[in-house]
Amino acid sequence: MKIVLLGPNGQVGWELQRSLAPLGELILLGRSPQLPGHPDASGDLAQADAVIATLRRLQPDVVVNAAAYTAVDKAETEPALAQAINAQAPGAIARLMAELGGWLVHYSSDYVFDGSGSMARTETDATDPLNSYGRSKLAGERAIQGSGCQHLILRTSWVHGARGGNFARTMLRLAAERDSLTVVDDQIGAPTGADLLADITAHALRQAILNQDMSGTYHAVATGEVSFCGYARHVIDQALRAGAVLKASADTVKGVPSTAYPTPAARPKNSRLDTQKLQQTFGLCLPDWRQGVDRLLAEVLPTR
Ligand code: NDP
Repeated sequence: MKIVLLGPNGQVGWELQRSLAPLGELILLGRSPQLPGHPDASGDLAQADAVIATLRRLQPDVVVNAAAYTAVDKAETEPALAQAINAQAPGAIARLMAELGGWLVHYSSDYVFDGSGSMARTETDATDPLNSYGRSKLAGERAIQGSGCQHLILRTSWVHGARGGNFARTMLRLAAERDSLTVVDDQIGAPTGADLLADITAHALRQAILNQDMSGTYHAVATGEVSFCGYARHVIDQALRAGAVLKASADTVKGVPSTAYPTPAARPKNSRLDTQKLQQTFGLCLPDWRQGVDRLLAEVLPTR
């Protein structure tokens, strides 16, 4: 099986390099790839035609798209670029994979929902994104779903990885610089490891390629829920227990409403995603979010 991985150097892409490797021939197609025998190869999703030409030459069985425009606030002023990378390019890739009879794995976001209420959203619940990034991710889903290609769309949230920028690492940095922090306590979700997401991808893909009925959209997040404030407290508490030298402590993290921390893009308050469909379809068991965060801390904190 020939698998092309787009965005191999992002948080999820980096972990996919590991988890997809045993499944077949894995070709990494970053923005400016160095592919022997393919001097014009491109993985820049802002230039979809060049990516499609590259994929046509490579003739993959599976494309895993971990590349995305992920600058949520910047997307408010660059909506066309966000749409090009998150919707138009994935749509074009999906149409090509439909033609080739292959699979496309793609990642989407809790930001396709409006974040109202307190129930965990299922895959069939109504979408209504609050911001430009969310609209681009939803448009990407729809383009893939309408293409006729076999696909796995994994909607996730609050991704963290040992490689790349994320909330947990920002909290560690700020806690080392400041005695106290204020963090929003009215946005609820599940921090999800890039490593977990990559492993879910490999397990699901391995089954899906043998059973086309598994093609579809799934929610893929760790189990449990927490506010960003609770998440920050957990990170700082665990880091201190591990011997990190920080100025702040869990007790000096103050919860504030989202209104106290205005951002260019509105964020959903309820990011809860129901993962029953994923767990039942693929026989998977998703761990508690703390397991992934504690593992991240063990990886990024210096050893004593
Ligand atoms: P990252 O921001 O860590 O990585 C995104 C990757 O996309 C980077 O490797 C980046 O390349 C690449 N990229 C950006 N623009 C282009 C482009 N024009 N052409 C090709 N590649 C490009 O994202 P994550 O790994 O965290 O996210 C993976 C997926 O999960 C995405 O689909 C995202 O929307 C989704 N998601 C993420 C969440 C999160 O909290 N991070 C939450 C919910 C969903 P480069 O390294 O060159 O910059």
